[in-house]
Amino acid sequence: MRAADERFWAKVIKGPAPGDCWFWVGAISDDGYGRFTLNKNGTTRAVRPHRFAYYLATGVWLDDMPSLMHGCDEPTCVHATVDPSSHLMPGTHRENMLDRIKKMRHSNGTGLRYWGVGRAAQADRSRRIREELLAHGWDSERIVAIRFNHDPDTPTLF
Ligand SMILES: [Zn+2]
Repeated sequence: MRAADERFWAKVIKGPAPGDCWFWVGAISDDGYGRFTLNKNGTTRAVRPHRFAYYLATGVWLDDMPSLMHGCDEPTCVHATVDPSSHLMPGTHRENMLDRIKKMRHSNGTGLRYWGVGRAAQADRSRRIREELLAHGWDSERIVAIRFNHDPDTPTLF
């Protein structure tokens, strides 16, 4: 698995602060989640990067892993650790859904719009974050602009 995790981390850009997201900048699927290909014993398998990151952090293999929730609501975030700073935590599918509903209900309109948009928009958003990171590296303002749907090239009016 050595080569796989080197390949994996080569496609991740981490924010500078301990609580920042670690964004996957490799392939992104049409649902807005990342895609990472594992080659094992001559077979290939496409996996979710956040699940692979969780495996690297915890040692829990993909087939034995529960569904994971993104505390940060970033589908391409792979910030998995074994302590409470982890952006990924296990949850059942039902918990996942309830969590989404709860967040939408409490959303103040500045964030978490992600869950209200369609698949194509989710994929587009994930890809824009990736392009931004690849073009400019980690620039918090620009990332926040995309995350919260502000246009970074439009000046604010105050
Ligand atoms: Zn995150």
